[in-house]
Amino acid sequence: MLAPFALKASALLCFAALLAAPAISSGGNKKRESVIQKPAASGAATSDDAALRARALKLHREAIVIDTHNDITSPMVDDHFDLAMNGINADGTMKTHTDIRRMKEGGLDAEFFAIYVGKEFVDKKPAEGGGAARRALDMIDAVREQVRRHPETFEMASTAADIRRIASRGKIAALMGIEGGHAIEDSLSALRQFYKLGVRYMTLTHSNTNNWADSSGDISNPNVGHHNGLTDFGREVVREMNRLGMMVDISHVSDKTFWDAIETSRAPVIASHSSARALTDVPRNMTDDMLRAVAKKGGVVMVNFGKGFVNTKAVKPSPETQAKMDEIRNQYSGDQATMRAKLRELQGPSPKVTLDMLIDHFVHIAKVAGVDHVGIGSDFDGVGGQLPEGMEEISKLPSITYELLKRGYSDADVKKVLGENFLRTMAEVERVAKKIQDSGAKPSTTKIGAIAKN
Ligand SMILES: [Zn+2]
Repeated sequence: MLAPFALKASALLCFAALLAAPAISSGGNKKRESVIQKPAASGAATSDDAALRARALKLHREAIVIDTHNDITSPMVDDHFDLAMNGINADGTMKTHTDIRRMKEGGLDAEFFAIYVGKEFVDKKPAEGGGAARRALDMIDAVREQVRRHPETFEMASTAADIRRIASRGKIAALMGIEGGHAIEDSLSALRQFYKLGVRYMTLTHSNTNNWADSSGDISNPNVGHHNGLTDFGREVVREMNRLGMMVDISHVSDKTFWDAIETSRAPVIASHSSARALTDVPRNMTDDMLRAVAKKGGVVMVNFGKGFVNTKAVKPSPETQAKMDEIRNQYSGDQATMRAKLRELQGPSPKVTLDMLIDHFVHIAKVAGVDHVGIGSDFDGVGGQLPEGMEEISKLPSITYELLKRGYSDADVKKVLGENFLRTMAEVERVAKKIQDSGAKPSTTKIGAIAKN
């Protein structure tokens, strides 16, 4: 789910049109033949390029391709979107970035469906779809229902080994990650039961600071009560996640929470959908020091494709525009649809963000953290249609492979980025959990009230 823009996944912006529709062959259970566009002209350079594209497709088909963050779950719950439906409208505009047809076209082998819990659910009554844990349960149920309805396409996965097994059968492994630590409602019992239901990572916060961890989303807001990172209970959450084998996800947290999580976690941590702050200076992205710290722990940073994560200009309005935006937000706070329309009108077309700019983030993280510590965390269907040209939907994933080869990465390194890095980290988190359990560690009985805040 998006942080820089205040858009809901359930209120997706439609794209004007699919850009330069790629040549796509239909059918085939696992991978399609030709997603990457054919060269437009002939000549020596072009035939070289055609050879590279062919090599990229072959490699992409062979590789295990994993995306660790997809917000299609929100329309599944809120709009009854079924993944077998066509996410492209009759007029060619895009309703969703994700559906089964395009997941297959993208050569996807494993998807982490975001169990995204908006902060508004914290205070919602049952009749309104709340509270936070209830919202998470509704989302988990929706993911499991898709797997039940489409057994020829999906299978639930709980481990790295499951992903390999399911991928080898030509199916897509379905996994889940909670987005927003407030989903556990300050209960380690709830955390454990979410693990049992199949949740394999949790972002410690969303864009809101919760009762035990600070968020990057409101860290500069003086009206929010902050904790200076993780509270003691927050550290206990991390330790219990380590014991369970649930990956600690630092996407969305404040910088201090990040460092506290690094210090506390015995297992590698992940960033399920964050990019590089050196290239795009937003609090949701990671500094070079953070990238190195994740690498040192054996973790992996999964690049977010959203425009606001890839290009600073796409996310930072001028002070004048910002003032006008605030005015609109105040004026139309009771009418979200009008507010969004007015904001869009004011902002005009968003700046051009290219596939090259996106690839720059992969390259930067690979340079700073090492090629063993970068992967794909698309945030498809969580960024309101705000994606780079050439990466507008999930079917475009093979372009990552092509572009990385073009930049000189070896086949083996590209495979790491596509999925092997993440599988290594996930397996290590499982190994650490087993070690902790074998040492006799029992489920934590700590209650949030029993530990004073930092
Ligand atoms: Zn998010």
